[in-house]
Amino acid sequence: MGAGRYAPSPSGPLHLGNLRTAILAWLFARSTSRSFLLRIEDLDRVRAGAEELQLSELAALGLEFDGPVIRQHERLDTYLQIIDQLRARDLVYECFCSRKDIAQAGSAPHSVPGAYPGTCRSLTTQQRDRKAEQRPAALRLRSEIHSFSVTDLLHGTYTGMVDDFVLLRNDGAPAYNLAVVVDDGQSGIDQVVRGDDLLSSAPRQAYLASLLGLTVPTYAHVPLALNADGHRLAKRDGAVTLEDLSEDGINALQVRSILLESLGLPTDSLGAALAAFDPTRLPGEPWIVRPEKIVHQLMPDASHNG
Ligand code: GLU
Repeated sequence: MGAGRYAPSPSGPLHLGNLRTAILAWLFARSTSRSFLLRIEDLDRVRAGAEELQLSELAALGLEFDGPVIRQHERLDTYLQIIDQLRARDLVYECFCSRKDIAQAGSAPHSVPGAYPGTCRSLTTQQRDRKAEQRPAALRLRSEIHSFSVTDLLHGTYTGMVDDFVLLRNDGAPAYNLAVVVDDGQSGIDQVVRGDDLLSSAPRQAYLASLLGLTVPTYAHVPLALNADGHRLAKRDGAVTLEDLSEDGINALQVRSILLESLGLPTDSLGAALAAFDPTRLPGEPWIVRPEKIVHQLMPDASHNG
C-alpha cells in the first residue's frame, strides 16, 4: 500500500486554498486506499506557533493522518547524506553565482528561460578557489538531461525542463527540491497531490527521485484558489482562514462544506464526499474566492448588520 501526503509550510495559518488542497490530497489518498501522511516543510519560512495552528485547522476539518508528523528540520542529516551519495557519483558541483549573475547569464541568446545557465558547471580548481574567496558555494545537481516527463492525473503526461538545480543553498540549508524528493521517497509516498503552481517543479523532482532509485510518484496538481483579481489567494484578501471566518460566526464544518461544494462534492460529511469523489470530474479551473460572498451566504444577517 502506498501513501499520499499533505505538506504545508508553517508560515502562518492555512487559508481556504490550502485547506481545499489538503482535502483534495486526503480524497485522492483515501479513494485509492493509500495511507495519508502529514509533513511539515519547515526548512524555511517558519512562523512561531504556525505548525500547531495548522495541525488544529486540519483537525477541525476532520482530516486524519496516519503515522507521526514528519518535520523536515529534524531530517537535516539525512539530506546531507543523500547529497554526499550524489557527490560520490560526481553528480554535484559547487556554484558561486548570485541571483544577479544567473539573471545576466540567462539573458544571453540560446539560454533557456528559468534554467541555470551552467556557469559553474566546469570550473577549474583554480577558478573555483578564487570564487570561493568571494562567496560561499551552493551545491547543484549535475543533471544529465534537459527535460523529463511525469504522469499527472489531471494534466496527463507533462514534460518539463530539468536544469542543474540547487540541492544545498549557500546558507547551508537543503533546498526544497531535494528535501521533498528524499522525504517522499523515504516515507513510501507514491502519490503527490498539491497546487498546480508546483507542476513545473515535478520533472526536476521526478528526475532526482529516479537518480536516487526512489519511486517516482504519480502526481495530481490541483487548481489553486485565486482572489477576484486572479491572483493567488492570500491573507490580505479578507476572511480567508478558519480563524477569520470564525470571527464572523462561521464554524469549521461550514467552511468545509463551502470547500466541498467548490469541488462539486456532497457537503454533509467527508465520508459522503469520499464516496462521490471522481478525479475526472473535478473542476479544472482555479477556484475564485470572494470572502464577503461566503460570509453573506452563510450568515446573511451578519452582513446586514455589518
Ligand atoms: N510546502 C509546499 C507548500 O506549502 C508544498 C510542497 C509540496 O507539496 O511538494 O506550498
